[in-house]
Amino acid sequence: MKLPKLVLVSNRLPITFTTEDGKLKGQPSSGGLVSALEPLLKAHGGIWVGSGGTEDSPQIRKILEDASADSPYKYAPLFLTAEEQSNFYEGFSNEIVWPLFHDLQSRCNFDPRYWEFYERVNRKFADAVEQASNADDLIWIHDYQLMQVGKTLRCRRPGARLAFFLHIPFPSPDIFAKLPWRQQILKDLLAHDLLGVQTGRDQRNLIACLRCFIPSVKISGQGESRLAVSELGRTHIEAFPISIDYCAFADQSESEPVLERVQQIKAKTHDIQITVGVDRLDYTKGIPERLKAYGYFLRHYPEFHRKVELIQIVVPSREGIPRYDQLKREVERLVTHVNGEFSEPGWVPINYIYRSVPRDELIAIYRAADVALITSLKDGMNLVAKEYCAAKTEVNGVLVLSEFAGAAPELRVGAILVNPNDELGVAAGLKQALEMTPEERRRRMLRLRHQIRQADIHTWRDRFFHALEKTAAAAEGQSDEP
Ligand code: UDP
Repeated sequence: MKLPKLVLVSNRLPITFTTEDGKLKGQPSSGGLVSALEPLLKAHGGIWVGSGGTEDSPQIRKILEDASADSPYKYAPLFLTAEEQSNFYEGFSNEIVWPLFHDLQSRCNFDPRYWEFYERVNRKFADAVEQASNADDLIWIHDYQLMQVGKTLRCRRPGARLAFFLHIPFPSPDIFAKLPWRQQILKDLLAHDLLGVQTGRDQRNLIACLRCFIPSVKISGQGESRLAVSELGRTHIEAFPISIDYCAFADQSESEPVLERVQQIKAKTHDIQITVGVDRLDYTKGIPERLKAYGYFLRHYPEFHRKVELIQIVVPSREGIPRYDQLKREVERLVTHVNGEFSEPGWVPINYIYRSVPRDELIAIYRAADVALITSLKDGMNLVAKEYCAAKTEVNGVLVLSEFAGAAPELRVGAILVNPNDELGVAAGLKQALEMTPEERRRRMLRLRHQIRQADIHTWRDRFFHALEKTAAAAEGQSDEP
């Protein structure tokens, strides 16, 4: 049987541009999502549609063509104007959808101009997909920047096979109600045959919003897979918690360079227990909240002075946007404040790293860390939590995890769950982790590792793809059940 071609659509193409010796170069990205999807793309043959940035030049197009020649899929780039990029991406996507869907509605800027650009750029993506694909291809659209691409494609090709995966959370009706374009966005989402979200909570929220704002919609099915039937068509709605390449992380954690680096890190920290935090600079990650809780912990439990260190890695993100610059200053102020209050010769309680670190170094830090402290105010998933556990091949270490991370329902089997807004609760969770016996650490970490191993990124891909095929079969009348 000839497999249908796969067309992946994401805001940016999975390629990183760098300048070496004054020359622009393109390197295919090596993230978990890309490597998980590669086997599918190899088997089906595929095209990846996404933005190549704001500078359309023969040089960039040539780099993308060369990269296509070396990869199992072809890149189909589109280019945005600076004005489009600013209003569609920084504006609608990141000043409206991002904060609202993370339950932080007070941070939204509902500028009506942003909406015009969101529609315009989503149509531009749909044009690019239409050009790059055929009628019987499987089209898989990713994430909150592109919620309207499917709607345009559906109008032009009623029989198209369309799937969408939302990587960020979906809010409850009370919060979603704040969106001036709430009904339109829900209708746009219903243009897809399959709608994937991260967790059962996101699925329930999305269904509750459909019931509130599109009363004519009929929801059937129970548990994991639900079916929404409306005048716009039939849409299967299901939770597919995204994950990591567990084996790749575990293997790299056992590699020579990583083991050597762990020894170096441990030689410098002697009998100090290391706690690690790893986040992109984003207000949803609860970095100031974590630093305040850590300050509280040191103030109230002086027996831990000189016995604990927090390595906080913050990866620069969305630089130049005032809110993010403000957050960076706030984080720096809190680090200085805590270090100023507690440091002693030979001991600095927070080791603050503001840059992206290489993969070997990150895994060595995970492996060396006794505790991972994750305090997201809200998070689609939080892959750092899963990576930390995968790197702990010695089956030690404790995960302290925000109950508002998408990873929490899966990882509650072994993590200490905390409410990031509860400074005392986070400090108590950290204390519990640091005082935990090796036997208890092992017992919990075994469960965590088992959970992540059996639901890794490959399982995620296979489950989503299987659901997509089932949906396509149902659409062809072979099965009517969700
Ligand atoms: N990460 C990275 N460089 C670093 C630190 C982290 O590439 O210096 C990666 C990390 O391995 C993880 C991702 O950034 O895969 C963060 O993913 P997560 O789901 O935790 O948060 P997101 O940034 O996607 O909201």
